[in-house]
Amino acid sequence: MKSSRRSFLITSIGVASTLALSRQAFADPAKVTEADPTAQALGYKQDATQVDKAKYAKYAAGQDCGNCSFYQGKGADPWGGCPMFAGKQVSAKGWCSAYNKKA
Ligand code: SF4
Repeated sequence: MKSSRRSFLITSIGVASTLALSRQAFADPAKVTEADPTAQALGYKQDATQVDKAKYAKYAAGQDCGNCSFYQGKGADPWGGCPMFAGKQVSAKGWCSAYNKKA
């Protein structure tokens, strides 16, 4: 095999695997639903204003995932990761009983 053909093949393989990787990186991670067993256990609501205030007396208006220390979204991200829900995303406007105000 001529070296130019070999380097073309190597480059093509490199490009193909880079494309496959970036497609994976942009795949939309699953969003936590309120039916999720962990969500139910933690009283997670996608809309913090819908939190059962009788059950979760610690909830205070203004608290949401977006200002929780566990929220892994950046800036104005509407969804972000949370260690309570590994591999899934929570809504920035959500809330759960593990809420901890961001310092
Ligand atoms: Fe939202 Fe914080 Fe609960 Fe995670 S721990 S779901 S970021 S309130």
